[in-house]
Amino acid sequence: MFTKFFPFQLPALLLFFTLTGSQPLTAEELIEPEIGDPYPLEICILSGETLEEDYELIEHQGQEIRVCCSDCKSKFTAESYIRVDELNALLIKEQTPLYPLEKCIVTGKALEQSPIDFIFRNRLFRLSSEAAKDKIKQQPTKYFDMLDAAVIAKQSKNYPLKTCLVSGKTLTDGAIDHVIANQLVRLADFEQLAAFEENPGKYLRILHEAK
Ligand SMILES: [Zn+2]
Repeated sequence: MFTKFFPFQLPALLLFFTLTGSQPLTAEELIEPEIGDPYPLEICILSGETLEEDYELIEHQGQEIRVCCSDCKSKFTAESYIRVDELNALLIKEQTPLYPLEKCIVTGKALEQSPIDFIFRNRLFRLSSEAAKDKIKQQPTKYFDMLDAAVIAKQSKNYPLKTCLVSGKTLTDGAIDHVIANQLVRLADFEQLAAFEENPGKYLRILHEAK
């Protein structure tokens, strides 16, 4: 459900836009709920433990968060106001060095020394104004696609692996370029993408170590 950009979702999406037309949207209306990155860390942010297959899932305003156990889930939910900020601070720290743009993706203005760092569904956007946050919330598909394209353009050349991160197969013309947490990931096919999303944090660590 947090996977984006599957071709079979396209007709439904087009229909959606046809039906909603150019009607103005408020920032609170979270459209396109399937757009966003899965939780990109290998650890539970509460316990520091490595996530196992039986992790617990939390959805916080469309953001996917994984924790190691039901105790951590209760704790996170009870303290979500602080915990989400802690998590997002960590995501900002990890994704800032990967961020591919020097201009605000919404306004086109050059980013200042300290831009507004905004985590939306586990993805860092660096912005020139508070109002730009609302634009991203209103049209996440548009801005995720733009940012994906910028990440692919920037990171393709120096991508460190010639093999699929999940299957280990040599990458061919049929390989897919996937972006998560501002990191390009190259996979043999969509089947590997499903496996990747079961444990993105683990694969991102392996990729980081290969650099
Ligand atoms: Zn736990």
